[in-house]
Parts: sequence; structure tokens; C-alpha cells
Amino acid sequence: MTRGGRRKGLFSPESVERVRNAADIVSVIGRHVDLKKAGNGLKGLCPFHHEKTPSFFVSRERQTWHCFGCGAGGDVFSFLMGLLGMSFPDVLEELAAETGIELEAPRAGDARSDGLRDLLAEARRFFEEQLAGSGGSAAREYLAGRDLGSDTIRALGVGWAPDGNLLTKHLRGRGYSDSQVEESGLAIRSREDPGRVYDRFRARIVFPISDRRGRVVSFGGRILPGARADAPAATAPQTPGPQPAAPGGAPGPPLP
Ligand SMILES: [Zn+2]
Repeated sequence: MTRGGRRKGLFSPESVERVRNAADIVSVIGRHVDLKKAGNGLKGLCPFHHEKTPSFFVSRERQTWHCFGCGAGGDVFSFLMGLLGMSFPDVLEELAAETGIELEAPRAGDARSDGLRDLLAEARRFFEEQLAGSGGSAAREYLAGRDLGSDTIRALGVGWAPDGNLLTKHLRGRGYSDSQVEESGLAIRSREDPGRVYDRFRARIVFPISDRRGRVVSFGGRILPGARADAPAATAPQTPGPQPAAPGGAPGPPLP
């Protein structure tokens, strides 16, 4: 195991989710950034780059933050990781202690599939955050042009996979190894350089494919019209961990 993957595996995805829900992002960030009301959310001076006019926004509703100045963004975990240089397990344990949530170990024998399911759920959140951020503007325009409103987009879990290897990088920060990201189908190992993996979905709209229980098992992707079409496969292989989508399982959204 690398990069804390083993430690992370000690926590069930459910307890990670409980901590995320219990920790109010506004009060956590509010300890480090002076936040003022702005529209539906709050804004302040970004702690990740130098600025004199606030371009750092926090959404209580979505429990996310985003800086339109430097493009950084994420959830309460990534905020503290980025600001304080803490590892994901350390942030998780600290917030769990603060919110009184007990971190449970995954059920015996289920750690591997739980870990994968958790990875896929984290990828969905990452893609959604990217769509909401400054890098997702072209995708948002495209979706608006297809009459997909923000409520629908949220309900379907539509997101944006940025160019580069940002998802793999993000998941590394969450304690996942490159092999785990590869196993999830979200990264591909380089043939020329087997030590490297790269994001399967780059510069495309992505949507989660769920099983009957509503758990993400894979992602589908589509390129924006007019964009270069040299990116790899449009659908990630389904992961071996969670149950694959059975016939009748919820397919991806009816994107045109
Ligand atoms: Zn910033």
C-alpha cells in the first residue's frame, strides 16, 4: 500500500460520508477565512493565492468551495489538506473527533469493494466540482444549450473531467494508490512507461453509471462538440468491486 491507502481502508465509506455531512464547511473554512454573504453562498479572500478582491466562494448547500482566481476547489477535506498540509486520514480523524462521529472499519471481507465504491463516489464529487468551477464553463454552456438545468445536472450527477491528470492527482491526495485508480477504470497505465497512469476521461462531460442500489459502478463520457476527439474510450470498464449494473439498472443520463 502507498500513500496512506491502508490507513484509509480502515474507514468505511459510510463513516467518511457521515463526517463530511456533519462537518459544516462554512464554519470550518470560516476559522481560516473571513467569509461574507454573497448570493446563495459566502465569499472571502482566497487563502491559496494572493488577492485583494474576494474570488473564493463557499457553498453551504453543496458543501463545496471554489476559487475563481486560482481555480482551486473541493470539499471540506481538501480545504484542510491544502491549507494545513495534512493527509486525508489525519483530516478525517480530526473532523471525526470534532463532530463526534465514530470512524468505523469496513466490514470484514468487504474492504476492497468498499474502497472502490468510495473511490468512485469521490470521483463523482470531483467531476461535479469541476463542472461547477471555472474550468467547466464550456461544458455548462453546452449542457444549458441542451436544456439540462442545474437541478437535473445535480440529480444525474453530470460532471466535467478536466484535461490533464487532475482526477488521479486528486485521488492520490485522498490516499488512493495509482493501482487502485487504475483498477476503478478511471485511469489507464501507460504502455511506454508502466510506472505512470493517466486519467481515462480528459476534457469531456462525464456521468455516473449506477447499479440498482444507486451506487456508482462506472462512468460514461462524451466529448464537447468541436473539441478534439483524441481522448480514449467513452466508457470506463465496470469495476470488479461493486456489483456491475444489471439490466434494468439505472443507465447514464439521456445525454443527446
Ligand atoms: Zn485562489
